[in-house]
This record gives sequence, C-alpha cells and structure tokens, in this order.
Amino acid sequence: MHRPELLAPAGNMEKLKIAVHYGADAVYLGGQAFGLRNKADNFSVEEMAAALDFCHTKGVKAYLTINSYPRNESLPELEEYLAQIAHLPFDAYIVADPGVIDAVRQVSPERELHLSTQANTINWRSARFWQQQGVRRINLAREMSLDNIRETVTKVPEVEFEAFVHGALCISYSGRCLISSMLTGRDANQGECTHPCRWSYHLVEESRPGEYFPVMEDENGTFIFNSRDLCLLEHIPAIVASGVHALKIEGRMKGINYVASVLRVYRRAVDEYLADPAGWRCRPEWMEELAKLSHRGFTSGFLFGQPHNVGQEYRSAYIRSHDFVGVVDEVRDGGTLLVSVRNRIKAGDLIEFIGPGMRSDTLTLQHFSTLPEHGAAVPAVCANPNQQILLKVPFAVEAGDLLRREKVTG
Ligand code: SF4
Repeated sequence: MHRPELLAPAGNMEKLKIAVHYGADAVYLGGQAFGLRNKADNFSVEEMAAALDFCHTKGVKAYLTINSYPRNESLPELEEYLAQIAHLPFDAYIVADPGVIDAVRQVSPERELHLSTQANTINWRSARFWQQQGVRRINLAREMSLDNIRETVTKVPEVEFEAFVHGALCISYSGRCLISSMLTGRDANQGECTHPCRWSYHLVEESRPGEYFPVMEDENGTFIFNSRDLCLLEHIPAIVASGVHALKIEGRMKGINYVASVLRVYRRAVDEYLADPAGWRCRPEWMEELAKLSHRGFTSGFLFGQPHNVGQEYRSAYIRSHDFVGVVDEVRDGGTLLVSVRNRIKAGDLIEFIGPGMRSDTLTLQHFSTLPEHGAAVPAVCANPNQQILLKVPFAVEAGDLLRREKVTG
C-alpha cells in the first residue's frame, strides 16, 4: 500500500515549525501576494528561504500557494513576484488560474505545478485535461464523492491526487463565492474573504422592508449559511485505499493549537492504518482530541453524496472544550522549561502538555517564575499572554509541545 503524504497548513514560520514537529510530510504556505489568504501572516521572500531551508533539512516538502485569479492589471506584479522567487527551491507551486500557469511556465519552466481546489476539478476528464497541461498533482474538489474520487484516480493514473480530509468548508461551490464581495466589497477569489457565511441572519418579508424577523435556533440566533467543518478521520481507510497521494488539512488562518492537535491525530491515525490496515479502528480519543479545538460541528461533506442539512450547523457558531495556554520554547539543562504564555494561567490550573504521537501529560501548576526581558526570574502565581515563564515538570517534554487547559464554562 502506498504511503499518502500528510499535507499541513503553514500560515507563518511558527505554524510551519509546529506542523513539522507534529509530523507533517509536507506543508503549504503563502507569500505576500497571490496566495488567497491575504489575512494570514504569510512569508516574505527571506522568510520563504528560511522556511525551505528548515523543511528540507527535516525531509519535509514545501509548496507555495499562488492560487488567486489575478486580473490583467495585476499581471506585471505577478511576473515580478515570480521572478523574485524563482531561485527558491519550492517542491511545487499550487496554482488555479491558467494565466498564472502560463506565467510560471515562462519564468520557472521546470517548477512542478499542483492544481488548487480553486480550479474545482470535479471529474476525471478535467483531471486528464490538467494532466495534459503538465500539472503534476490535482487537489480534488471537496464536492466529490468517494466513488467519484476512486474513478478519477483510476482513470488518470499519470497524475497525483490530493483530497481534503479536515477543516473548514465553504457553503458555496468550492469557494466560488460572492457573498463576501457583495456584503463587504472584499473578494473571496482575491484572497480577501470576510467569512460572512458564518454570520447570523434574519428574515425579511418582501413587502415589509426594514422589518427583520429573528430566526432563533438558539439564544444567539441562526446561522443559515454556516457549514459544519469537514472531518474524514473515521474514513481514513477508504480515502487511503482510493489511491490519493496526499491528505490535506485546511487552515492557514488557524492557530498553532489547531495545527498541532489536528496533525497529531491524523498522523497517528494514518500511521496505525498503514501498520495494520485490517486491525484499524477510529479510536474515540482521536475524535475527543479534535473536539477540544474550536470547530462548528463535523460533517463528512460530500464523501457519501449530498450532505443536505446534516452538513449545516444552524446554531451558534463555534464549539471547543479546551483553551490553548502556551508553547514550550526551550527545554533547558536540568529539565527546566521556557514557556511562552498565550492565555492567562495561574497557580492551581490543571495543565495538559501535548506532544507528537498523542503524547500527553498533566500537571497542576504550582511553582513557576516569570521571566522579565532583563533581569532574573521572579516567582509568580499567574502569568499573562506574551510573558515567558520557567517551570519544571516531572515528565519528558520537547520544544514545540503545547500547553492547554479545560475551558471553564458558565
Ligand atoms: S463567505 Fe463563506 S462560503 Fe463564501 S468564500 Fe467565504 S468562507 Fe467560503
């Protein structure tokens, strides 16, 4: 059985390092233009060079997203951008627009091309068309069923395929959506989506303009365009057996907590399946781990046909059971940890330390010190975001491990 690549989002250098730490085989990242996530931190040319160096040293591939649909007036800027980055050893560019493909062919003819989901490849003839244009890999539209994926992979064996397994879903067809553009003037197809499909909406009767009827699914209203998040963890055997070459996780805008937690689950699930396909089962603790993250309920999307209303989440948007509170920056001699605090913590908090391979240990926080920028460590009973603390733990921890705490409700 082939080993599919686990492909993770890297919205900035910190997320990229976390993705590598938690077992990604490859990462995808955006530059400061043409990458469809204009609100992510993204990478300058110098940062891309450092990112590639880091990934390739660790045996991880790195792909650059250039998947927006530029207009004529943006083409000179695109060509200049391609020339600026031509020397960088990206393993592939992820593209969608034939015009961008044409420009890449001119500036970097040897560059491997992966076709973005924005190109909406939904059938095997489209796949064959793109393969004939020299595309090496195709990210299949999320609207494809498992049967369609299998048939496409079988009929076009000359090209690699990629399927999304986890992350946000658009309510529109493969993200070809005008809601953001209409309501806010920010065009999703230029990387500026403001996510209005997650907003709360009211009802207006045609002849009574200005009279808004609240539609209450819960105390927060109703979310009629709000798709649940894709989660195909339970279907890893079917996806891997379909022959796709890469399993992709969505989320360049999400935080390091999301990248780490999703990857540690999928890394373990895929590895266990490859080691023992017949004995594989989806462990409840994996789903529990995913539910600890902020999400909008889960759906298997179109994998088994139309999701209809089970793919929708009409109630308040986000659910999560845990708060991310810090990241281990360094493990010093003698086992002292240097931790960057991301959410306020205090003595008495029950903190879980998580690492790759589903490693997890808990500790009630007691003695720790805050570390001012200059001067000696000061014993403390609480610490705030952006502070660093020093503490000792009685178990093994690595730099890059994360700290989290059960969410306090009420
Ligand atoms: S508004 Fe929603 S459906 Fe439309 S592109 Fe943005 S995220 Fe996708």
